[in-house]
Amino acid sequence: MSRIYNFAAGPAILPVPVLEQASREMLDWHGCGTSVMEMSHRGKEFIGIAAAAEADLRELLGIPANYKVLFLQGGATLQFAAIPMNLLRGKKSADYVNTGEWSKKAIKEAKRYGAVNVAASSEDKNFTYAPKQATWKLDPDAAYVHVCTNETIGGVEFNWVPDTGNVPLVADMSSHILSRPVDVAKYGLIYAGAQKNIGPAGLTIVIVRDDLIGQTLSVTPTVLDYKAQAESDSMLNTPATYGIYIAGLVFQWLKQLGGLPKIAQMNQAKANVLYDYLDQTEFYYSPVEKDDRSLMNVPFRLRNEQLNDEFLKQAKQRGMVELKGHRAVGGMRASIYNAMPIEGVKALVDFMHEFQAKNG
Ligand SMILES: *Cc1c(COP(=O)(O)O)cnc(C)c1O
Repeated sequence: MSRIYNFAAGPAILPVPVLEQASREMLDWHGCGTSVMEMSHRGKEFIGIAAAAEADLRELLGIPANYKVLFLQGGATLQFAAIPMNLLRGKKSADYVNTGEWSKKAIKEAKRYGAVNVAASSEDKNFTYAPKQATWKLDPDAAYVHVCTNETIGGVEFNWVPDTGNVPLVADMSSHILSRPVDVAKYGLIYAGAQKNIGPAGLTIVIVRDDLIGQTLSVTPTVLDYKAQAESDSMLNTPATYGIYIAGLVFQWLKQLGGLPKIAQMNQAKANVLYDYLDQTEFYYSPVEKDDRSLMNVPFRLRNEQLNDEFLKQAKQRGMVELKGHRAVGGMRASIYNAMPIEGVKALVDFMHEFQAKNG
């Protein structure tokens, strides 16, 4: 068996110990004689798996008791609609900060349900920075303020928490949730698709303060009603059972590593290896402003774009894949989520160095 270094943005790399445990438990989970995939979601075994996953996530993130944790489906994309449906609460509009491709998609979808005020944008510089809070034009009557705290495609990350006063802050954390500690109490709602930094595609996590739920638009499908989902422990209908199980194993892996403070240190060390190299070469560069660079998704470019295809080809020959940047921005992108070992980042930098030596 050989494993490659997978720099995909999502679905993405998962921790090897988690995959090994899942494979050991595949045919017979804890003496049940069935896999988790084959279990009833109403049975005591699966209810136990889901409850443990929620408890471990609560512990890792320090989620206060007045927040609900929901295990849903439909991806972060469905949340782009579910959020206005649940959180407009009779108000006319919501504030959105536009920092890139995922913010734009969230804005476009929200406009179907209410008015959107774009409170700040980094479009003027091609989404290469996070706009400073002083430039935001917030509406005190907004239902909520939506931010994508890590733009997966542009590689822009907020390393500070916006202050939105009494207006609830809503964050799409799909691509950096669990990469570092978060003060959940500063947010009204946090959501994330699992396939970036948690587990397999098909599971979406929503963490929402309980006073914000229960006032949906009348058109809201029941499965998108956070209150209805909370009251049925996210089992209003069949949940993404296998995804919840794998996510639970990832949470245990993170706890064994030492929790989020520890993984944050490891992520910083990994990102430093790559950014330090990018900053000391003329051959490659990072398009993102230094203060706002993502520790999870690292876009970079070759000054000579004609070498892009050759770069990707040779990287693949060396067992490093999915380095092509998103079509919206071009160039390269290395996603270095929690499960990427530092050896993978070092191998990438070694290759980049050699490629430069041959072609520079
Ligand atoms: C991947 C991603 C999405 C979309 O997720 P889906 O699960 O495919 O709907 C939304 N926001 C961010 C920040 C992402 O990285």
